Amino acid sequence: MSEKAWKELEEKCILCKNCKLCETKTNTVFGTGDKNANVMFVGEAPGEQEDLQGEPFVGASGKLLDKYLTVIDMPRQSVYIANILKCRPPHNRDPLPEEEDACIEHLRQQLKLVDPKIIVCLGRVAAKRIIKPDFKITAEHGKWFEKGKYLMCAVYHPSALLRDLSKRKEMLSDMFEIKKKADELNK
Ligand code: SF4
Repeated sequence: MSEKAWKELEEKCILCKNCKLCETKTNTVFGTGDKNANVMFVGEAPGEQEDLQGEPFVGASGKLLDKYLTVIDMPRQSVYIANILKCRPPHNRDPLPEEEDACIEHLRQQLKLVDPKIIVCLGRVAAKRIIKPDFKITAEHGKWFEKGKYLMCAVYHPSALLRDLSKRKEMLSDMFEIKKKADELNK
């Protein structure tokens, strides 16, 4: 896809005033990584460090995500990473449904441009919005869902793994399965 389309979409997000988060953000957090990636990771919204640096998943939870990506031999620069919301909700609260509604079209456009084979939702909020509204992260993380042309799954949000170390083993297993599936689809 053309650089022009990417630039236009990023500018649209930077100038966006579709919800009130544009009034409190420091930076727009658009997305990062390989624009032709086969695997796209989607979180819910930028946190404090992301807001300050303008990049998704660069705080403590992002560093943990990087470790998992390195272990499964799928480094950050080989995937695309974005959030549903491009602006930070104050005090890291969950996105409001109306904020998700206001911003989701930007993510749809990103998906169209990247055109990945696999979408991995990072955490409950993204999974509920992207996979299904009644998604249960504890019971359904690591399970595969087919939606349209995409294969989707969800894993724990890295911030949940910072709070609860007991989830890390399941996370590792899910991440290895994602790598396996991506390799199969690339054959
Ligand atoms: S969060 Fe999304 S919809 Fe709201 S102002 Fe930012 S870019 Fe626009």
